[in-house]
Amino acid sequence: MNNTVKMEFYDRFRCIADKCSFTCCQNWDILVDEDTLGKWKSDEKQSEAFCKNVKSKKRNRKTEYYIKMNPRKGCPFLNEKGLCNIVISNGDEYLSKACRAFPRQENNFGDLDEYSLSCACPAVVDIIYNIDGTVKFLHDADDNLMDNLLPEYKIREVMMSIMQNCNFSLTDKILLTFHMLLSVKEEPGMAAEIRKKYQSEEYLSSLTGIWSGIKIDNEDSFQETKELFLDIILNYKKEMTFRDYLQGIADLAEDEEIDDNLFLTQWNDFKMEFVQYEKLMENCIISKIFANCVSEDIDEMLLAFQVVITEYIMVRYSVFLKSLLEEKYCNESQPQTTKKVRTNNIIPYNITRDYIVIYSRIIGYNADGIREFWEDSFEEAVWEFGYMLLLIN
Ligand code: SF4
Repeated sequence: MNNTVKMEFYDRFRCIADKCSFTCCQNWDILVDEDTLGKWKSDEKQSEAFCKNVKSKKRNRKTEYYIKMNPRKGCPFLNEKGLCNIVISNGDEYLSKACRAFPRQENNFGDLDEYSLSCACPAVVDIIYNIDGTVKFLHDADDNLMDNLLPEYKIREVMMSIMQNCNFSLTDKILLTFHMLLSVKEEPGMAAEIRKKYQSEEYLSSLTGIWSGIKIDNEDSFQETKELFLDIILNYKKEMTFRDYLQGIADLAEDEEIDDNLFLTQWNDFKMEFVQYEKLMENCIISKIFANCVSEDIDEMLLAFQVVITEYIMVRYSVFLKSLLEEKYCNESQPQTTKKVRTNNIIPYNITRDYIVIYSRIIGYNADGIREFWEDSFEEAVWEFGYMLLLIN
């Protein structure tokens, strides 16, 4: 036994390098670990070339080293063919650990190692898109080890089993998972009983039955989504890397000339059409829960889950706006009032994939920033159930 749990497609990942439309060598703070820095400093021939592209930063009273990005926020080692000069001159082993690992993610729970891949890489999203059914995880671990894992690990197991349940819609599964986490937060001493309840199909159906009777105001839900979207992209829409993806849709969301009723109708139609990507979105959510949603602190688990769901909400709303913009170009010759009406219901896959990648980078890799934003915006960073219901509707 290797005592590992791996995403089923983990070993299938291959970087597509110069064919990648979203290189990971841009727009990040790329950490240079001390081992790699040592190797670079002691390289007789290229020490200067390596080290002039490294900067230091103080973080939590510790000095950390990063690649000094060029004015276009790209890695200075990336050549014009989209290939890495460090790999070309010295091989993979000269890369920093962060570069070598991405998009691979590893978690350790005592003797158990877990391996997953990040949706911040478009090649990973392509693999997930081509999965038939629900993403699976390959267990190669001793039963005793699995049985003795910490309670928070078991909570995550129930989160995953709810999300993998084929008998509920994606919306219901998100609500059920969030509801379970809130219940554990409220009664931490009852965590084992709560976990058991949320494994019962009958109990889950009784909850979704109650929620289906709650009338959500579509307009409130739409406005809330729009506000969240505008707040989140505020700092990114002008950045070079994301400008082409975010500026146009932000302008559209803020356009005061748009007929609100028409916009709302289009949004409601779009949500039904977006069901064609429900399996993809669901598998991305499951992958992110597996990689990120486990902590001894239930508040941390809730916040990590909120981050994952915020990414989903932003992807859905951004794809909606983008598809309206694309339609606008098709209908340029038509009268003003019909310009932003969607005329077909085919949502291109590449648009959906690009926004999954973008939000995985700007939200998923900036979880601390988004938590601060919630702390500033609400009384408590953990959402109320009603807010989730409104956003996810
Ligand atoms: S984002 Fe993925 S496919 Fe693109 S360069 Fe990075 S690892 Fe390779």
